Amino acid sequence: MVTATIPDICPRCNVPNQQMSLFCNSCRLYLRDETMTVERCTYTRRFFGNSLLEGVLILVTLIIGWFIWLIFTSKTGQTPAKRLVNTYPINIETGRQLSQGETWLREIVIKFLALGVANGITSGLAGLLDDIWLFFDKDRQTLHDKVLKQVVVYAPAGLPPSMQFQQNAPLRYTAPPIMPGQQAAPPQPHVKDVAEDLRELARLKEDGVITEEEYERKRADLVNKM
Ligand SMILES: [Zn+2]
Repeated sequence: MVTATIPDICPRCNVPNQQMSLFCNSCRLYLRDETMTVERCTYTRRFFGNSLLEGVLILVTLIIGWFIWLIFTSKTGQTPAKRLVNTYPINIETGRQLSQGETWLREIVIKFLALGVANGITSGLAGLLDDIWLFFDKDRQTLHDKVLKQVVVYAPAGLPPSMQFQQNAPLRYTAPPIMPGQQAAPPQPHVKDVAEDLRELARLKEDGVITEEEYERKRADLVNKM
């Protein structure tokens, strides 16, 4: 799988991305969007504009109306409430909006059925944990976002073409593990590159290009890099 890096500096406001987050901590920009129009959802938009609104829509449409509405909105990977507030769940590994299948898996199988059963068993604690996770996560992911390797973004002007759904889209990114607020692992030293340099250095000494003294000094420098 390809591991594309996240920019370590925000291209819009130049604030360093110290947490290796998907979003700029200062201006909320989604750092994998080169058009600089996609942002992180605010808590208000995620809760009142999305979760609460969804609940109201489900009630006023007597559930069945919401299901029929979902058939249409799932074409853009959205639920009815997400369509109204311009938010989109993104598949972190492809970097693109969800397919219709992914949307039904997310909304019906995971959130409606699995979380519904878990709520029944735990008297609603499962749903509470699922939502509270959001507050401790650097990318504002809920637990179901984490499990599904998805992240919800706010795109007031719609998603740019590079983030729109594409059949059989290649996996461009590695999803982070399920740990709240976890930092990215430090980059591994390039042991292979150093080993290659050491061999090259030995060849130079043998060919008499560098002196024994220069060889020892350069060799020590390279070994320190490992
Ligand atoms: Zn920024």
